[in-house]
Amino acid sequence: GRKHNARNVKAYFTKDMFHVMEDDLLGEMNLRKGLDLKEFELYYQPKVDCSSGKIIGFEALIRWNHPERGIIPPIEFINLAESTGLILPIGEWVIQQAFILLEKWRRIEESDLTLSINISPRHFLHPKLIKYLKECLTKYEIKPNQLVIEITENVAMEDFDSVKKRIFELKELGFSVSIDDFGTGFSAFLYLQHFPIQEIKIDRRFIRDITNNEKSFGIAKTIIDLAKMLKLNVVSEGVETAEQWEVLKKLGCPQLQGFYFSKPMPRGNIQGWLSKYQEEIES
Ligand code: C2E
Ligand code: MG
Ligand code: MG
Ligand code: MG
Repeated sequence: GRKHNARNVKAYFTKDMFHVMEDDLLGEMNLRKGLDLKEFELYYQPKVDCSSGKIIGFEALIRWNHPERGIIPPIEFINLAESTGLILPIGEWVIQQAFILLEKWRRIEESDLTLSINISPRHFLHPKLIKYLKECLTKYEIKPNQLVIEITENVAMEDFDSVKKRIFELKELGFSVSIDDFGTGFSAFLYLQHFPIQEIKIDRRFIRDITNNEKSFGIAKTIIDLAKMLKLNVVSEGVETAEQWEVLKKLGCPQLQGFYFSKPMPRGNIQGWLSKYQEEIES
């Protein structure tokens, strides 16, 4: 009847209006404005040495502090940034922040922690990437081997020759290249053979069930063994429990990341967190 229809119409409009509103708040104009107003922020998640529990470095993960929506995770705006080309200025901002932090670590804290950043496919293959990195190398005093550039497996398959050339250029400059979310994309072993990468990261969907699913366990073990054969570093992502850590230790996984150690934190929390963590593992 009428009541029923009215309810449907209401539901329909509510949902639709929500999408319009969302598009508006997270649209291209606002993304650009967010960039101008410096609404982006990097959070940092520790990378841990599996056998000792010591901190090796951090991965920078972007957040958007939206004036109306609060903290917005990358999954909600990175695609738009890619399709509009805004990923370039955003990615350059990420690179600059990484250089600033690495320089601070080196100069003030004399720390040799590594810093990993995520570079999206479009930016990775863009001619300006190398130019910008070189600019930063002259401007900031860092050791390039402390910067790790993470790309997803799918980038690696976009255009084999261009990606290969780009990875060689990065290696030439002294940076490390890491394949993120390993095992979820095309998993072409060709690039493991032909690209000078330093690291692969096992996607957290394999780590999640590692203690109770034979297939997840088998896949993780195989990736770790493969990496060992190829002399690559491996990071298991998404470690949330002591049991998962235990299993990964037995499998000989070199490095871990996950909420078990820490969620990504704002830059200002790093030092405090590090000293507290240090105390804990020493006691
Ligand atoms: P990623 O590079 O694979 O990063 C790992 C994601 O897993 C992060 O989500 C992190 O917060 C989350 N994570 C870490 N440990 C755990 C855990 O134990 N359990 C669970 N459930 N999740 C965990 P986040 O920060 O939302 O980032 C999502 C993705 O967005 C990243 O995946 C990366 O692909 C992309 N991203 C993040 N920052 C940037 C950036 O600055 N530039 C670009 N282009 N992409 C970025
Ligand atoms: Mg990553
Ligand atoms: Mg990942
Ligand atoms: Mg991911």
